[in-house]
Amino acid sequence: WAKAAGGARWALYDADRDRRELARYALSAAIPAALERGEFYLDYQPLTSLRDGRVVGVEALVRWRHPELGVLRPDSFIGLAEETGLIVPLGGWVLAEACRQAGSWSPAVGAAPFVSVNLAVRQVRRPGLVQEVRGLLRSTGLPPERLQLEITESTMMSTAEEPVRALRTLADLGVRIAIDDFGTGYCNLAYLRDLPVTELKVAGQFVAGLRAPESRADERILASLVSLAHALDLTVTAEGVETAGQADRLRAIGCDAAQGWHFGRPDSAERLLARLH
Ligand code: C2E
Ligand code: MG
Ligand code: MG
Ligand code: MG
Repeated sequence: WAKAAGGARWALYDADRDRRELARYALSAAIPAALERGEFYLDYQPLTSLRDGRVVGVEALVRWRHPELGVLRPDSFIGLAEETGLIVPLGGWVLAEACRQAGSWSPAVGAAPFVSVNLAVRQVRRPGLVQEVRGLLRSTGLPPERLQLEITESTMMSTAEEPVRALRTLADLGVRIAIDDFGTGYCNLAYLRDLPVTELKVAGQFVAGLRAPESRADERILASLVSLAHALDLTVTAEGVETAGQADRLRAIGCDAAQGWHFGRPDSAERLLARLH
């Protein structure tokens, strides 16, 4: 009977999983119409210098104002959009919208912040990426130094020669290239040396380990990451910084910038800019 019970459990589990898969696919299939209806929008989260407290950049984070489900976080639709390829039109919209908005931000005090946009592997692999970015910079007037593209380690590792050349062309234009969630994937050091990367964004889980004073190991890992990055002429931004204590330790280690709830949650461009002025 144990086997029968086990079988029943599996049947139940499978039905559940099928329902979830179906819901996921239905959600993904709705992306093109949602793009046309203007249901997506961007929130921005500040990247703050640990040296002088200035907001040096902002990360664009996509949200979906779904008519029935309410506001959806990217984790509920980006993964599937990547699988189905719909990330290409969706990510293209994000890139265009971020360039358009950032192009309109006038420098109130000092330099206007750069805008950092997440790119999925399919977007990086597309042959037209360089032209797309060039066209957007031209049409929005956004200077290349004020655009940063965030790419994950696994994207970097799985990307062939052609896309790496595209990234190098963009970097030569002055566009910043950041490795997102650094430390969660597997990125070898030769890659860091050879790729046109300008910044490492260290994953929040390393920062979460910065809980005084028993977390010497995490602190040492972060400190060596920072000196390695600096030796390679890269800047380091720590993600997921939630407390003043973590910010203090990161500053002591020599980390360049920080992103996280301690410095500001993702918010609309209007509210973020109002806070900056
Ligand atoms: P990410 O690029 O690593 O973005 C940072 C995520 O961490 C954001 O979640 C942000 O809200 C969250 N976060 C920021 N500060 C803190 C903190 O102090 N504590 C904690 N626990 N979390 C914090 P969000 O907005 O839900 O985005 C999730 C992921 O979705 C992003 O991770 C990114 O990989 C992806 N994503 C977002 N927008 C886009 C997009 O336009 N295109 C693509 N391809 N991916 C996107
Ligand atoms: Mg990111
Ligand atoms: Mg990240
Ligand atoms: Mg991520």
